[in-house]
Amino acid sequence: MTSIKETTIQELIDRYPVILFDSFGVLASSNAVLPGAVELIAGLNRIDKTYFVLTNDASALPESRSQKYANLALTIQPDQIITSGSLLTRYFADEKLQGLRCVMLGPEDSVKYVEHAGGEVVPAGADFDAVVIGDQAGFPFLETMDQVLTDLFRKIDNGQDVRLILPNPDLIYPDGDGFGFASASIALMLESALKLRYPERGDLRFIRLGKPHEAIFAEALRRSGTRDMVMIGDQLETDIKGANDFGLDSVLVGTGIAVHDLSSAPEAMRPTYTLRSL
Ligand SMILES: [Mg+2]
Repeated sequence: MTSIKETTIQELIDRYPVILFDSFGVLASSNAVLPGAVELIAGLNRIDKTYFVLTNDASALPESRSQKYANLALTIQPDQIITSGSLLTRYFADEKLQGLRCVMLGPEDSVKYVEHAGGEVVPAGADFDAVVIGDQAGFPFLETMDQVLTDLFRKIDNGQDVRLILPNPDLIYPDGDGFGFASASIALMLESALKLRYPERGDLRFIRLGKPHEAIFAEALRRSGTRDMVMIGDQLETDIKGANDFGLDSVLVGTGIAVHDLSSAPEAMRPTYTLRSL
């Protein structure tokens, strides 16, 4: 197996017209900026470099995320931030889902994503057409999950269609010194329960939109107009695999949560380059 070349941020700026950054583990942790990010973003802004942040987060609108970055001295405009939540708009348009009644699990900004996409957000316990998991936080967890599970079983038993939508496919996230469960872990609970009750129904799975799936990279392509982009991320399973699958070069940065034994990584998760830090 060939060794992976180590690169520098300057080489990447010189080589690629467009740079894509993961957010958590690359630019920032949960509430602190990572070393080098402030200087790098200021420098990119100064030379008018085209870059986007691709984040699987669906708990904050791009405007909210931009404000949080500003509080960390990172000046990144909302239209440079592509969240998995914002992919709902195109998904709803492509699938003609306007007016879809959605039970939305997540905080206020997650609800706004569904409303912006044209969905009608209904409370857990009301009749619905779809379950959308925006985030693991922002709702009474077990009560809501039990209600959603009960209603899903009832609807499916009655032969009704349900659509399951998961903008953020992350299973876990780094939280301070530890880790937390992210929204895909919640989806797995429901998928496991559905599989138990309807073993023959392979279709009862959540549609996944964020990294490593195609939709978020397709949105970056739409905004940049070029495939000559490089993705800088800290997770092999999302950032690196997603970029590779979409045909983009990828850079694994050493500041996030990946365990960096690349010798055992499958080919689809091998980055084009490694980068020690920003
Ligand atoms: Mg990350």
